[in-house]
Amino acid sequence: MSKPEPAARMAEVARRVLDGDRRALSRAITLVESGRADHRAEAAALLDAVRTSGREALRIGLSGTPGVGKSTFIEAFGTMLTGQGLKVAVLAVDPSSARSGGSILGDKTRMGRLSRDPNAFIRPSPSQTHLGGVARRTREAVALCEAAGFDVVLIETVGVGQSETVVAEMSDLFLLLMAPAGGDELQGVKRGIMEIADMIVVNKADGDLKATATRTCADYAGALRLLRKRPQDPPGYPKAIMVSAIEESGLAAAWDDMQGLIAWRRDHGHWAARRQAQARHWFEEEVRQGLLARLTADPEARSRMAALGTAVAHGEAEPAQAAEEMLAWLKG
Ligand code: GDP
Repeated sequence: MSKPEPAARMAEVARRVLDGDRRALSRAITLVESGRADHRAEAAALLDAVRTSGREALRIGLSGTPGVGKSTFIEAFGTMLTGQGLKVAVLAVDPSSARSGGSILGDKTRMGRLSRDPNAFIRPSPSQTHLGGVARRTREAVALCEAAGFDVVLIETVGVGQSETVVAEMSDLFLLLMAPAGGDELQGVKRGIMEIADMIVVNKADGDLKATATRTCADYAGALRLLRKRPQDPPGYPKAIMVSAIEESGLAAAWDDMQGLIAWRRDHGHWAARRQAQARHWFEEEVRQGLLARLTADPEARSRMAALGTAVAHGEAEPAQAAEEMLAWLKG
């Protein structure tokens, strides 16, 4: 007997994911993380089957350099939310795993309390692929968590390079976690990162660090005020706030600020607009990735690329002209 079509095979998995079955969710995420062609077909069928669940989680992106306290914050903040009866999923985009196959975020044993919490679900970053691949898989994992009934999905990343932008593109709300620091270090924060942050959260506002944290927070608040006003921000946002993840202080106020911002965006149409723009972005990104994949997967395309590349290298053709030729071939 022939195998059932992917859609039929995935219907049962989809049902269990929608039921909130954690093992089914884990396996479903493993499926979307797989690079195998037959798995891709199943993953697409599965995502299609859960797409109309009508469930909507609050997706919170969180970035910060190693050591700033991301896992401590997620543990404390996530536990506070589950204490309020919310279901919390934690996913990660780890750019280091894309480069080296190793991971600087992967060790989730750091979040011991949250990982034992029945209302929390923690998933380390998919590894050993390029950032674009990690992004797609994480975005699909977010969709699965949402369908499984999680209220909040936290997407963690390390503050290096491109990964913040990638995470911001799949978040409703993007938080930048910072440590107390002197004025000089403040200058080092890239403008682009400040521009995508909805809130800057200065962590470690406790003990000896509290005074510095207060100054740092005021400095960031000042820097944020100088940025161009964005239409998606109510008065007072983007804002800088202080917390201590270790002492678990300021977390309830941070959550109030996040909810206030989200409520305002919902009321003013920015929530839906942002999700629509993100969906369009990811569609275009998939097309780009698909075209690039064709260039490397197809042997004839590969040898044409190599030949044209050599011609360009030897000054026999202009880069733009050779690219035109390659694109014309792809189209044909
Ligand atoms: P990550 O690399 O960003 O995930 O940072 P971690 O959560 O692993 O924290 C790095 C270090 O900072 C650890 O030694 C934590 O105990 C410490 N840390 C985290 N949050 C706080 C905080 O609120 N206050 C203080 N004083 N230390 C903290």
